[in-house]
Amino acid sequence: MEFKDYKQEQEGYISRMPEVLARVYGRKPTACIFTYGCQQNVSDSERIKGMLTEMGYALTDSAEGADFVLYNTCAVRGHAEDRVYGNIGAMKHYKKRHPGMIIAICGCMAQQEKVAQRMKKSYPYVDLVFGTHVQYRLPEFLYKRLNGSSRIFEIPQEEKIVEGIPVHRDGDFKGWLPIMYGCNNFCSYCIVPYVRGRERSRKPEDILNEARELVAKGYKDITLLGQNVNSYGAGCDFGLNFAGLLRKINEIEGDFRIRFMTSHPKDCTTELLDAMRDCEKVSCHLHLPFQSGSDRILALMNRKYTREKYLSLIKAARERIPDISITSDIIVGFPGETYEDFKETLSLVKEVRFSSLFTFIYSPRDNTPAAQMDDPVSREEKGKWFDELLRTQEIISREINADTVGKTYKVLCDDFGRKEGKMAGHTNGTAVIEFDGTEEDLGKFINVKVDAISNVLEGTRIKEN
Ligand code: SAM
Ligand code: SF4
Repeated sequence: MEFKDYKQEQEGYISRMPEVLARVYGRKPTACIFTYGCQQNVSDSERIKGMLTEMGYALTDSAEGADFVLYNTCAVRGHAEDRVYGNIGAMKHYKKRHPGMIIAICGCMAQQEKVAQRMKKSYPYVDLVFGTHVQYRLPEFLYKRLNGSSRIFEIPQEEKIVEGIPVHRDGDFKGWLPIMYGCNNFCSYCIVPYVRGRERSRKPEDILNEARELVAKGYKDITLLGQNVNSYGAGCDFGLNFAGLLRKINEIEGDFRIRFMTSHPKDCTTELLDAMRDCEKVSCHLHLPFQSGSDRILALMNRKYTREKYLSLIKAARERIPDISITSDIIVGFPGETYEDFKETLSLVKEVRFSSLFTFIYSPRDNTPAAQMDDPVSREEKGKWFDELLRTQEIISREINADTVGKTYKVLCDDFGRKEGKMAGHTNGTAVIEFDGTEEDLGKFINVKVDAISNVLEGTRIKEN
């Protein structure tokens, strides 16, 4: 594995950008970033914003009149891609009104050759297309384009880790912390391994330094990110696996919570569950996608575990942490899935009783094995199964919520409530409780007793912290 330093790699461009921006704009230029997809993309965008602000851009939420507009895209489902094409189409008019605007597309969608070709041919006003492996080269791309280079298309596969990229975080108390990139699992429906490359783990000291920095800045909720965090460190000589990393981060002094996603059931071990039980800062939440309850479909998906193994993990997690919130991802309508298979998914949902679910209708992705499989069930039929799944989960969620009434939780106040005078906070698991409060409460841990359930949990603050 090759480790590189952003400043060393890009120094020649970073140092000359202020002069270029002053010459081209004669004022502080503005940049607008749109982010689609998962938390990894949100985290990547925070680094992109960090590079831009360091170069001298001011960030804005409005594309109208912005000097630089970037779409950080997702390719996991077709719908996400269609939205990006629609939105980039609309940019043509913005650019007509503001011809100096530089438009860029990056992220998982941009990493695909067919997308780069389509941008080249049909979207002549898009200036930069760059993939997931070279985001750290943004200063170079902007420098070259602002100095009159032709449009830039850069989508190489580079299996390395670049450290030292500045981060402009979106929040003041909840922080994303990537611990690894890429994926080796090749689930048959999934495009991620093709667009994010092979699994690469950051060095423990780089992760620990970033965690310490977050805690020192007052971050109270740190989410460790990776497509399969359970295989952190595999093939490296770190002498530390994911369970060990959790224990190390837990040793950092301070009042904060540690979350992580995503865990793959095939690599989820009792060693990890033990670490979750032992580490008081690790939240009571396990996001463990099972995708399907049918062993036949799991094999076709290349998930490498069975329903039985999944259920044994849930049992082991609950034995160690009885009040753990368990959440999951499910795909409905995988090619060849029958209603009988789907009923296996429903029965697993009823058996496990998840706190919440992320549910998706299967979306064929180019060049994945599943896209070549026969898919005889209509979209309409899949939609009916999907609705049945949602109804089933709704009942379970309601029952789980009802169980919270009368109990007291330590919440991290992280949002405004839906009504005037109300604030909202997350428990150590996944529940959100609203309570009387003010903006002052944001970023603080507060004890709240649940009184009632409407659309959300409603509670009363029981004591000032
Ligand atoms: N690495 C994580 C894992 O294995 O659980 C998740 C990564 S993926 C970005 C998030 C979720 O999207 C997956 O868990 C799966 O449920 C869903 N997904 C991925 N490919 C899909 C496809 N082709 N159609 C529908 N849903 C898909
Ligand atoms: Fe996609 Fe499977 Fe990798 Fe998750 S583990 S990113 S679903 S290939």
